[in-house]
Amino acid sequence: MTKEDLLNLRIDCLDKGFVRLVDYMGDDSAVVQAARVSYGNGTKSYREDRGLIRYLMRNRHTSPFEMVEFKFHCRMPIFVARQWIRHRTANVNEYSGRYSEMTDDFYLPDISQLRHQADDNKQGRSAEVLEDGKAELIMKSMADSQKASYDEYKSYLSQDLARELARINLPLSAYTEWYWKIDLHNLFHFLKLRLDKHAQFEIRIFAEAMAQIIKQVVPISYEAFEDFILHSRLFSGLEVEFLKKIVDTKKINEKALLDLGLSKREAAAMIELFTNKL
Ligand SMILES: Cc1cc2nc3c(=O)[nH]c(=O)nc-3n(C[C@H](O)[C@H](O)[C@H](O)COP(=O)(O)OP(=O)(O)OC[C@H]3O[C@@H](n4cnc5c(N)ncnc54)[C@H](O)[C@@H]3O)c2cc1C
Repeated sequence: MTKEDLLNLRIDCLDKGFVRLVDYMGDDSAVVQAARVSYGNGTKSYREDRGLIRYLMRNRHTSPFEMVEFKFHCRMPIFVARQWIRHRTANVNEYSGRYSEMTDDFYLPDISQLRHQADDNKQGRSAEVLEDGKAELIMKSMADSQKASYDEYKSYLSQDLARELARINLPLSAYTEWYWKIDLHNLFHFLKLRLDKHAQFEIRIFAEAMAQIIKQVVPISYEAFEDFILHSRLFSGLEVEFLKKIVDTKKINEKALLDLGLSKREAAAMIELFTNKL
């Protein structure tokens, strides 16, 4: 895809939201270019560039990833925006309900999402949808109260109440929108937290949309992020003690690791880790 194709690429999210790429600066080559300043070399082959990016990601040498920036236009329910805004390293400019009239767009979850409270996660929902017609009734009740609160909002406006006050009883399901600009390092941090299954389903949808867009701009960095951050696991000191007892280090040989897709350098690092450092 060319840069022109990517710009304005829009992915619909939830029932009335979206993520749209407005602009970006840099790609994998910007990461490599910045990193090579540290090591005093120019651009090398694709294989070497990929190796370098993976090395940077593995060793948490993060500043070269800050050379790439993304600017998105996003539309999401206010309760999603509240979780999203906790990520302080982005630049944000949000729609103003003081300046402009709020729209009558409210988030209504798909009925398949109206599930029981999870037993194993106090912050989440379980896999089972509410039974005996309860889900349908709640959906209708949510839609009715959204409409009632918007009608009330409009009636306040018609009495010339200031917009900044007329809006204060609107629910968290009301849609807002913003421009959101962030560098790749901090975007990876956001994605690590918000693609995780512990993140709320609704914000995960937006994280997935952004991931889908950026992997087309920075495919090598995204692959390294998936491998070394997203799909990696952290072990505590005690867990490492346990691993030491059960791992048969004789089975960790270079060929098996190369067959899995690790580079020679990565295989050597893993052998070193398991034989000497674990
Ligand atoms: C599943 C989940 C559940 C959550 N539940 C809750 C909850 O119940 N209540 C709640 O309040 N929050 C909750 N949060 C929000 C969470 O605590 C973080 O505020 C949010 O994820 C942003 O993370 P961050 O601070 O690392 O990100 P960012 O703000 O993007 O910061 C990125 C990194 O920059 C550094 N940084 C940024 N600003 C500072 C600073 N001022 N000082 C020092 N270092 C800084 C830190 O290293 C930080 O990790 C939850 C988040 C998740 C993913």
